[in-house]
Amino acid sequence: MIGVDSVSRLNHVRNMPTTRDYLLRHLDAIELQGYNKVADNTFVNIVPMTTGRLVEELPWNEQKSGEPFDPYNFIWKNFSSSGYFTLYAEDDPRLGIFNYIKRGFRVPPADHYYRPFALALEGDNSVWTSDHHCVGDRFETDMILNYTKDLMKLYHRVPYFGFNFLSRLTHDSISNTASADTPYSNMFRDIDNQGLLNNTVLIFFSDHGMRFGEIRETYIGKLEERLPMMFLVFPKWFYKKYPQITQNLKINRNRLTTPFDIYETLKDILYFTGDVKGDVDVEQRGISLFEEIPVSRSCDHAGILPHWCTCMSQQELSNNDQFYNMSVNYLITYINQQFVLNNVTDMCWPLKLGRTKSVHVIQNNDKLLKYKQSLNDVINRTVSFNAKRVLSTYIFQVAVSLMPGSGEFEASVRYDETTGNFTMAGDISRINKYGHDSDCVHGSLLHKLCFCK
Ligand SMILES: [Zn+2]
Repeated sequence: MIGVDSVSRLNHVRNMPTTRDYLLRHLDAIELQGYNKVADNTFVNIVPMTTGRLVEELPWNEQKSGEPFDPYNFIWKNFSSSGYFTLYAEDDPRLGIFNYIKRGFRVPPADHYYRPFALALEGDNSVWTSDHHCVGDRFETDMILNYTKDLMKLYHRVPYFGFNFLSRLTHDSISNTASADTPYSNMFRDIDNQGLLNNTVLIFFSDHGMRFGEIRETYIGKLEERLPMMFLVFPKWFYKKYPQITQNLKINRNRLTTPFDIYETLKDILYFTGDVKGDVDVEQRGISLFEEIPVSRSCDHAGILPHWCTCMSQQELSNNDQFYNMSVNYLITYINQQFVLNNVTDMCWPLKLGRTKSVHVIQNNDKLLKYKQSLNDVINRTVSFNAKRVLSTYIFQVAVSLMPGSGEFEASVRYDETTGNFTMAGDISRINKYGHDSDCVHGSLLHKLCFCK
Protein backbone atom coordinates (compact mmCIF):
# COMPACT_ATOMS: atom_id res chain seq x y z
CA MET A 1 0.00 0.00 0.00
CA ILE A 2 1.51 3.28 -1.09
CA GLY A 3 -0.39 6.35 0.05
CA VAL A 4 0.19 9.97 -0.89
CA ASP A 5 -1.42 12.63 1.28
CA SER A 6 -4.05 15.04 -0.05
CA VAL A 7 -4.21 13.97 -3.71
CA SER A 8 -7.68 14.03 -5.21
CA ARG A 9 -8.37 11.82 -8.20
CA LEU A 10 -8.59 14.91 -10.39
CA ASN A 11 -5.36 16.39 -9.06
CA HIS A 12 -3.73 13.07 -9.84
CA VAL A 13 -5.13 13.34 -13.38
CA ARG A 14 -3.75 16.88 -13.73
CA ASN A 15 -0.38 16.43 -12.10
CA MET A 16 0.70 12.79 -12.36
CA PRO A 17 0.24 11.96 -16.07
CA THR A 18 3.21 9.58 -16.33
CA THR A 19 2.27 7.64 -13.21
CA ARG A 20 -1.33 7.50 -14.35
CA ASP A 21 -0.38 6.24 -17.77
CA TYR A 22 1.80 3.53 -16.27
CA LEU A 23 -0.88 2.41 -13.82
CA LEU A 24 -3.70 2.25 -16.35
CA ARG A 25 -1.94 1.17 -19.57
CA HIS A 26 0.88 -1.05 -18.32
CA LEU A 27 -0.40 -2.37 -15.02
CA ASP A 28 -4.14 -2.58 -15.86
CA ALA A 29 -4.92 -0.82 -12.56
CA ILE A 30 -8.47 -0.65 -11.28
CA GLU A 31 -9.16 3.04 -10.66
CA LEU A 32 -12.07 3.75 -8.30
CA GLN A 33 -13.79 6.83 -9.69
CA GLY A 34 -16.44 6.99 -6.97
CA TYR A 35 -14.06 6.63 -4.03
CA ASN A 36 -15.39 8.96 -1.32
CA LYS A 37 -13.69 9.77 1.97
CA VAL A 38 -15.69 9.07 5.15
CA ALA A 39 -14.26 11.69 7.51
CA ASP A 40 -12.19 14.87 7.55
CA ASN A 41 -8.43 14.35 7.75
CA THR A 42 -5.71 11.71 7.33
CA PHE A 43 -6.07 9.98 10.69
CA VAL A 44 -9.84 9.60 10.60
CA ASN A 45 -9.80 8.15 7.04
CA ILE A 46 -6.78 5.85 7.46
CA VAL A 47 -8.25 4.27 10.61
CA PRO A 48 -11.37 3.03 8.72
CA MET A 49 -9.13 1.77 5.91
CA THR A 50 -6.87 -0.19 8.26
CA THR A 51 -9.28 -1.26 11.02
CA GLY A 52 -12.75 -1.22 9.41
CA ARG A 53 -13.92 1.16 12.12
CA LEU A 54 -14.43 4.85 12.60
CA VAL A 55 -11.97 6.39 15.05
CA GLU A 56 -14.66 6.69 17.74
CA GLU A 57 -15.49 3.01 17.28
CA LEU A 58 -11.90 1.85 17.94
CA PRO A 59 -12.77 3.23 20.49
CA TRP A 60 -10.52 6.27 20.56
CA ASN A 61 -11.01 9.92 21.40
CA GLU A 62 -8.83 12.94 22.18
CA GLN A 63 -8.70 12.00 25.88
CA LYS A 64 -6.61 9.03 24.80
CA SER A 65 -4.12 11.16 22.88
CA GLY A 66 -1.50 10.34 25.51
CA GLU A 67 -1.95 6.59 25.09
CA PRO A 68 -0.20 4.54 22.41
CA PHE A 69 -2.05 2.82 19.57
CA ASP A 70 -0.50 -0.61 20.19
CA PRO A 71 -3.66 -2.33 21.51
CA TYR A 72 -5.81 -1.69 18.41
CA ASN A 73 -6.30 -4.28 15.75
CA PHE A 74 -4.80 -2.78 12.61
CA ILE A 75 -4.84 -4.90 9.48
CA TRP A 76 -1.03 -5.20 9.50
CA LYS A 77 -1.39 -7.22 12.71
CA ASN A 78 -3.60 -9.71 10.84
CA PHE A 79 -0.97 -9.96 8.11
CA SER A 80 1.80 -10.33 10.67
CA SER A 81 0.04 -13.07 12.61
CA SER A 82 -0.57 -14.91 9.32
CA GLY A 83 3.18 -15.05 8.79
CA TYR A 84 3.72 -11.98 6.61
CA PHE A 85 6.78 -9.78 7.03
CA THR A 86 5.60 -6.22 7.57
CA LEU A 87 6.76 -2.71 6.78
CA TYR A 88 5.45 0.65 7.96
CA ALA A 89 6.89 3.87 6.58
CA GLU A 90 5.94 7.53 6.75
CA ASP A 91 8.09 10.43 5.68
CA ASP A 92 7.55 13.48 7.92
CA PRO A 93 7.74 12.19 11.52
CA ARG A 94 5.95 15.28 12.87
CA LEU A 95 2.91 14.59 10.67
CA GLY A 96 2.80 10.84 11.33
CA ILE A 97 -0.77 9.54 11.15
CA PHE A 98 -0.59 8.16 14.69
CA ASN A 99 1.94 10.65 16.01
CA TYR A 100 0.55 14.09 15.15
CA ILE A 101 -0.82 15.31 18.54
CA LYS A 102 -1.00 11.62 19.45
CA ARG A 103 1.13 9.07 21.20
CA GLY A 104 2.13 6.83 18.28
CA PHE A 105 3.25 3.25 18.93
CA ARG A 106 5.30 2.02 21.89
CA VAL A 107 6.35 -1.15 20.10
CA PRO A 108 7.19 -0.79 16.39
CA PRO A 109 3.99 -1.66 14.48
CA ALA A 110 5.94 -3.57 11.81
CA ASP A 111 9.09 -5.63 11.33
CA HIS A 112 10.55 -2.78 9.29
CA TYR A 113 9.70 0.63 10.73
CA TYR A 114 11.04 3.75 9.03
CA ARG A 115 10.27 6.16 11.88
CA PRO A 116 13.52 5.94 13.88
CA PHE A 117 15.46 6.81 10.72
CA ALA A 118 13.01 9.61 9.85
CA LEU A 119 13.38 11.08 13.36
CA ALA A 120 17.17 10.93 13.17
CA LEU A 121 17.10 12.72 9.80
CA GLU A 122 14.64 15.32 11.06
CA GLY A 123 16.93 16.07 13.99
CA ASP A 124 19.79 17.11 11.73
CA ASN A 125 18.99 20.26 9.75
CA SER A 126 22.34 20.25 8.01
CA VAL A 127 21.45 17.26 5.80
CA TRP A 128 18.34 18.86 4.27
CA THR A 129 18.02 21.17 1.32
CA SER A 130 16.27 24.48 2.07
CA ASP A 131 12.86 23.28 0.79
CA HIS A 132 13.20 20.22 3.04
CA HIS A 133 12.45 17.81 0.20
CA CYS A 134 15.96 16.44 -0.33
CA VAL A 135 18.58 14.87 1.91
CA GLY A 136 21.81 15.79 0.16
CA ASP A 137 21.14 14.86 -3.45
CA ARG A 138 18.42 12.33 -2.59
CA PHE A 139 14.73 13.16 -2.92
CA GLU A 140 12.95 12.18 0.32
CA THR A 141 10.09 10.54 -1.63
CA ASP A 142 12.64 8.36 -3.46
CA MET A 143 14.24 7.35 -0.17
CA ILE A 144 10.97 5.97 1.19
CA LEU A 145 10.05 4.30 -2.09
CA ASN A 146 13.51 2.70 -2.27
CA TYR A 147 13.07 1.41 1.27
CA THR A 148 9.86 -0.29 0.14
CA LYS A 149 11.43 -1.51 -3.09
CA ASP A 150 14.23 -3.11 -1.07
CA LEU A 151 11.63 -4.90 1.05
CA MET A 152 9.84 -6.12 -2.05
CA LYS A 153 13.08 -7.55 -3.44
CA LEU A 154 14.12 -9.08 -0.13
CA TYR A 155 10.78 -10.81 0.49
CA HIS A 156 9.91 -11.53 -3.11
CA ARG A 157 9.45 -15.23 -2.43
CA VAL A 158 7.66 -14.99 0.92
CA PRO A 159 4.52 -13.10 2.01
CA TYR A 160 4.95 -9.47 3.02
CA PHE A 161 2.72 -6.48 3.70
CA GLY A 162 3.87 -2.88 3.46
CA PHE A 163 2.04 0.28 4.43
CA ASN A 164 3.58 3.55 3.23
CA PHE A 165 2.19 7.02 3.65
CA LEU A 166 3.97 10.08 2.27
CA SER A 167 2.78 13.51 3.35
CA ARG A 168 5.48 16.12 3.14
CA LEU A 169 5.56 16.77 -0.58
CA THR A 170 1.84 16.98 -1.29
CA HIS A 171 0.17 17.96 1.98
CA ASP A 172 0.36 21.75 1.68
CA SER A 173 0.66 22.35 -2.04
CA ILE A 174 -1.66 21.20 -4.78
CA SER A 175 0.96 21.79 -7.47
CA ASN A 176 3.77 19.91 -5.68
CA THR A 177 1.95 16.74 -6.72
CA ALA A 178 3.59 17.29 -10.11
CA SER A 179 7.00 16.72 -8.47
CA ALA A 180 5.73 13.36 -7.27
CA ASP A 181 4.97 12.13 -10.80
CA THR A 182 8.51 11.03 -11.65
CA PRO A 183 9.38 9.18 -8.41
CA TYR A 184 6.14 7.18 -8.36
CA SER A 185 6.17 6.35 -12.07
CA ASN A 186 9.82 5.28 -11.77
CA MET A 187 8.98 3.14 -8.75
CA PHE A 188 6.10 1.39 -10.50
CA ARG A 189 8.12 0.82 -13.69
CA ASP A 190 11.05 -0.56 -11.68
CA ILE A 191 9.05 -3.03 -9.59
CA ASP A 192 7.10 -4.09 -12.69
CA ASN A 193 10.27 -4.64 -14.75
CA GLN A 194 11.82 -6.66 -11.93
CA GLY A 195 8.77 -8.93 -11.82
CA LEU A 196 7.92 -7.84 -8.28
CA LEU A 197 4.25 -7.34 -9.11
CA ASN A 198 3.75 -10.91 -10.35
CA ASN A 199 2.69 -12.08 -6.89
CA THR A 200 1.77 -8.80 -5.25
CA VAL A 201 -1.27 -6.55 -4.98
CA LEU A 202 -0.35 -2.87 -5.18
CA ILE A 203 -2.70 -0.25 -3.74
CA PHE A 204 -1.80 3.33 -4.68
CA PHE A 205 -4.06 5.78 -2.88
CA SER A 206 -4.71 9.01 -1.10
CA ASP A 207 -6.72 9.82 2.00
CA HIS A 208 -8.60 12.93 0.78
CA GLY A 209 -8.02 15.85 -1.59
CA MET A 210 -6.55 19.25 -0.78
CA ARG A 211 -7.98 20.49 2.52
CA PHE A 212 -6.43 23.96 2.54
CA GLY A 213 -6.36 27.10 0.44
CA GLU A 214 -8.53 28.82 -2.07
CA ILE A 215 -9.50 25.73 -4.05
CA ARG A 216 -11.68 24.65 -1.14
CA GLU A 217 -13.86 27.71 -1.64
CA THR A 218 -14.82 26.43 -5.09
CA TYR A 219 -17.33 23.80 -6.10
CA ILE A 220 -14.71 21.61 -7.76
CA GLY A 221 -12.50 22.03 -4.69
CA LYS A 222 -15.29 20.73 -2.47
CA LEU A 223 -15.69 17.66 -4.69
CA GLU A 224 -11.94 17.09 -4.88
CA GLU A 225 -11.51 17.31 -1.10
CA ARG A 226 -13.92 14.37 -0.82
CA LEU A 227 -12.74 12.23 -3.75
CA PRO A 228 -9.16 10.97 -3.30
CA MET A 229 -7.36 8.84 -5.87
CA MET A 230 -7.53 5.08 -5.37
CA PHE A 231 -5.88 2.46 -7.60
CA LEU A 232 -5.63 -1.29 -7.11
CA VAL A 233 -3.22 -3.31 -9.20
CA PHE A 234 -3.42 -7.09 -9.36
CA PRO A 235 -1.03 -9.39 -11.23
CA LYS A 236 -2.13 -9.82 -14.87
CA TRP A 237 -2.66 -13.56 -14.35
CA PHE A 238 -5.06 -12.81 -11.48
CA TYR A 239 -7.47 -11.02 -13.83
CA LYS A 240 -7.51 -14.09 -16.10
CA LYS A 241 -7.74 -16.67 -13.35
CA TYR A 242 -10.57 -14.94 -11.45
CA PRO A 243 -12.93 -13.52 -14.10
CA GLN A 244 -15.85 -13.04 -11.69
CA ILE A 245 -13.75 -11.02 -9.23
CA THR A 246 -12.29 -9.06 -12.14
CA GLN A 247 -15.72 -8.27 -13.50
CA ASN A 248 -16.82 -7.02 -10.08
CA LEU A 249 -13.69 -4.91 -9.70
CA LYS A 250 -14.41 -3.33 -13.07
CA ILE A 251 -18.04 -2.63 -12.18
CA ASN A 252 -16.97 -1.15 -8.86
CA ARG A 253 -14.78 1.43 -10.62
CA ASN A 254 -17.97 3.42 -11.12
CA ARG A 255 -19.76 2.63 -7.88
CA LEU A 256 -19.72 4.50 -4.58
CA THR A 257 -16.74 3.15 -2.59
CA THR A 258 -14.98 4.09 0.66
CA PRO A 259 -12.01 3.27 2.92
CA PHE A 260 -14.26 0.72 4.69
CA ASP A 261 -14.39 -1.24 1.41
CA ILE A 262 -10.59 -1.19 1.16
CA TYR A 263 -10.43 -2.76 4.63
CA GLU A 264 -12.84 -5.53 3.59
CA THR A 265 -10.81 -6.06 0.41
CA LEU A 266 -7.56 -6.33 2.39
CA LYS A 267 -9.17 -9.05 4.51
CA ASP A 268 -10.31 -10.86 1.37
CA ILE A 269 -6.77 -10.65 0.00
CA LEU A 270 -5.29 -11.98 3.24
CA TYR A 271 -7.82 -14.79 3.64
CA PHE A 272 -8.18 -15.35 -0.11
CA THR A 273 -10.48 -18.13 -1.29
CA GLY A 274 -11.16 -17.03 -4.86
CA ASP A 275 -14.91 -17.23 -4.21
CA VAL A 276 -17.44 -14.49 -4.71
CA LYS A 277 -20.30 -14.66 -2.22
CA GLY A 278 -22.65 -12.74 -4.47
CA ASP A 279 -25.38 -11.85 -1.99
CA VAL A 280 -24.25 -8.45 -0.82
CA ASP A 281 -26.37 -6.57 1.70
CA VAL A 282 -26.58 -2.94 0.60
CA GLU A 283 -26.90 -1.93 4.27
CA GLN A 284 -23.46 -3.37 5.01
CA ARG A 285 -21.13 -0.42 5.62
CA GLY A 286 -17.97 -1.96 4.20
CA ILE A 287 -18.11 -4.27 1.17
CA SER A 288 -15.14 -6.08 -0.34
CA LEU A 289 -14.36 -4.88 -3.85
CA PHE A 290 -14.31 -8.55 -4.91
CA GLU A 291 -18.11 -8.39 -4.58
CA GLU A 292 -20.30 -6.22 -6.79
CA ILE A 293 -21.12 -3.03 -4.86
CA PRO A 294 -24.89 -2.50 -5.29
CA VAL A 295 -25.77 0.32 -7.65
CA SER A 296 -28.43 1.37 -5.12
CA ARG A 297 -25.82 2.07 -2.44
CA SER A 298 -26.21 5.51 -0.87
CA CYS A 299 -23.90 7.59 1.30
CA ASP A 300 -26.08 6.62 4.23
CA HIS A 301 -25.49 2.90 3.54
CA ALA A 302 -21.76 3.48 3.14
CA GLY A 303 -21.35 5.48 6.37
CA ILE A 304 -20.70 8.83 4.67
CA LEU A 305 -22.21 11.87 6.40
CA PRO A 306 -24.10 14.30 4.13
CA HIS A 307 -21.43 17.02 4.21
CA TRP A 308 -18.87 14.52 2.86
CA CYS A 309 -21.25 12.92 0.37
CA THR A 310 -20.54 13.71 -3.28
CA CYS A 311 -23.48 11.71 -4.62
CA MET A 312 -25.98 13.92 -6.39
CA SER A 313 -29.69 13.69 -5.84
CA GLN A 314 -32.44 14.13 -8.35
CA GLN A 315 -35.78 15.86 -7.97
CA GLU A 316 -38.50 17.09 -10.28
CA LEU A 317 -38.68 20.85 -10.87
CA SER A 318 -42.00 22.64 -10.65
CA ASN A 319 -42.96 24.60 -13.76
CA ASN A 320 -42.64 27.92 -11.95
CA ASP A 321 -38.95 27.37 -11.19
CA GLN A 322 -36.77 29.81 -13.15
CA PHE A 323 -34.69 26.94 -14.53
CA TYR A 324 -37.71 25.07 -15.85
CA ASN A 325 -38.13 27.19 -18.97
CA MET A 326 -34.45 28.19 -19.20
CA SER A 327 -33.26 24.61 -19.55
CA VAL A 328 -36.05 23.71 -22.03
CA ASN A 329 -35.30 26.80 -24.14
CA TYR A 330 -31.58 26.01 -24.15
CA LEU A 331 -32.25 22.51 -25.47
CA ILE A 332 -34.56 23.76 -28.25
CA THR A 333 -32.08 26.45 -29.28
CA TYR A 334 -29.31 23.87 -29.33
CA ILE A 335 -31.32 21.53 -31.55
CA ASN A 336 -32.18 24.28 -34.04
CA GLN A 337 -28.50 25.32 -34.10
CA GLN A 338 -27.65 21.86 -35.39
CA PHE A 339 -29.78 22.51 -38.48
CA VAL A 340 -27.89 25.76 -39.13
CA LEU A 341 -24.48 24.18 -38.52
CA ASN A 342 -25.26 21.30 -40.88
CA ASN A 343 -26.76 23.52 -43.61
CA VAL A 344 -30.13 21.76 -43.56
CA THR A 345 -32.43 24.69 -42.67
CA ASP A 346 -33.96 24.46 -46.16
CA MET A 347 -34.90 20.83 -45.48
CA CYS A 348 -35.81 20.68 -41.76
CA TRP A 349 -38.54 22.70 -40.05
CA PRO A 350 -37.38 24.87 -37.17
CA LEU A 351 -38.63 23.13 -34.02
CA LYS A 352 -40.73 24.78 -31.35
CA LEU A 353 -41.96 23.60 -27.98
CA GLY A 354 -45.05 21.42 -28.13
CA ARG A 355 -45.11 20.34 -24.52
CA THR A 356 -42.65 20.05 -21.64
CA LYS A 357 -43.11 16.61 -20.10
CA SER A 358 -40.73 17.05 -17.17
CA VAL A 359 -37.59 18.75 -15.93
CA HIS A 360 -35.52 17.12 -13.21
CA VAL A 361 -32.62 18.81 -11.45
CA ILE A 362 -29.59 16.77 -10.36
CA GLN A 363 -27.41 18.48 -7.79
CA ASN A 364 -25.15 18.03 -4.79
CA ASN A 365 -26.67 18.30 -1.35
CA ASP A 366 -26.85 21.59 0.56
CA LYS A 367 -24.54 20.44 3.37
CA LEU A 368 -21.71 19.78 0.93
CA LEU A 369 -22.26 23.09 -0.85
CA LYS A 370 -22.38 25.06 2.42
CA TYR A 371 -19.64 23.14 4.26
CA LYS A 372 -17.12 25.40 6.01
CA GLN A 373 -14.99 23.31 8.35
CA SER A 374 -14.86 20.42 10.77
CA LEU A 375 -13.16 20.81 14.16
CA ASN A 376 -11.97 17.95 16.42
CA ASP A 377 -12.03 14.28 15.47
CA VAL A 378 -14.27 12.87 18.21
CA ILE A 379 -14.85 14.94 21.35
CA ASN A 380 -16.69 18.19 20.54
CA ARG A 381 -16.56 17.47 16.85
CA THR A 382 -18.28 20.44 15.26
CA VAL A 383 -19.06 20.86 11.62
CA SER A 384 -19.81 24.42 10.57
CA PHE A 385 -21.58 25.65 7.49
CA ASN A 386 -21.68 28.89 5.51
CA ALA A 387 -25.00 30.68 5.10
CA LYS A 388 -24.71 30.49 1.32
CA ARG A 389 -24.09 27.58 -1.02
CA VAL A 390 -20.92 27.75 -3.07
CA LEU A 391 -21.65 28.47 -6.75
CA SER A 392 -21.97 25.06 -8.36
CA THR A 393 -23.07 23.15 -11.43
CA TYR A 394 -26.50 21.66 -11.95
CA ILE A 395 -27.66 19.08 -14.42
CA PHE A 396 -31.20 19.42 -15.76
CA GLN A 397 -32.81 16.39 -17.35
CA VAL A 398 -35.29 17.73 -19.82
CA ALA A 399 -38.07 15.74 -21.54
CA VAL A 400 -39.99 17.57 -24.26
CA SER A 401 -42.19 17.05 -27.26
CA LEU A 402 -41.39 19.41 -30.17
CA MET A 403 -43.47 20.66 -33.09
CA PRO A 404 -43.94 20.13 -35.91
CA GLY A 405 -43.58 16.36 -36.02
CA SER A 406 -44.26 15.63 -32.31
CA GLY A 407 -40.72 14.36 -31.82
CA GLU A 408 -40.08 13.37 -28.22
CA PHE A 409 -36.66 14.20 -26.86
CA GLU A 410 -34.76 13.69 -23.64
CA ALA A 411 -31.46 15.37 -22.87
CA SER A 412 -29.33 16.55 -19.99
CA VAL A 413 -28.17 20.13 -19.98
CA ARG A 414 -25.61 21.52 -17.58
CA TYR A 415 -25.84 24.92 -15.94
CA ASP A 416 -22.74 26.53 -14.45
CA GLU A 417 -23.65 29.14 -11.83
CA THR A 418 -20.24 30.79 -11.99
CA THR A 419 -20.62 31.68 -15.68
CA GLY A 420 -24.40 31.61 -16.03
CA ASN A 421 -23.97 29.40 -19.11
CA PHE A 422 -25.74 26.26 -20.24
CA THR A 423 -23.96 23.47 -22.12
CA MET A 424 -25.11 20.04 -23.24
CA ALA A 425 -24.25 17.19 -20.85
CA GLY A 426 -24.18 14.22 -23.20
CA ASP A 427 -26.25 13.15 -26.17
CA ILE A 428 -29.84 13.94 -27.05
CA SER A 429 -32.13 10.92 -26.96
CA ARG A 430 -35.04 10.60 -29.39
CA ILE A 431 -37.54 8.44 -27.54
CA ASN A 432 -40.35 7.98 -30.07
CA LYS A 433 -40.13 6.51 -33.55
CA TYR A 434 -39.27 8.93 -36.35
CA GLY A 435 -40.00 6.58 -39.26
CA HIS A 436 -39.57 8.40 -42.58
CA ASP A 437 -39.88 11.90 -41.01
CA SER A 438 -36.18 12.58 -41.45
CA ASP A 439 -35.41 10.80 -44.76
CA CYS A 440 -34.29 14.10 -46.34
CA VAL A 441 -31.12 14.25 -44.19
CA HIS A 442 -28.14 12.00 -43.45
CA GLY A 443 -26.28 11.15 -40.27
CA SER A 444 -27.52 9.73 -36.99
CA LEU A 445 -27.78 13.08 -35.16
CA LEU A 446 -29.88 14.77 -37.87
CA HIS A 447 -32.00 11.65 -38.29
CA LYS A 448 -33.00 11.96 -34.64
CA LEU A 449 -33.72 15.70 -34.82
CA CYS A 450 -35.02 16.69 -38.25
CA PHE A 451 -38.65 16.84 -39.34
CA CYS A 452 -38.39 17.20 -43.10
CA LYS A 453 -40.24 20.01 -44.84
ZN1 LIG B 1 -4.22 13.69 4.82
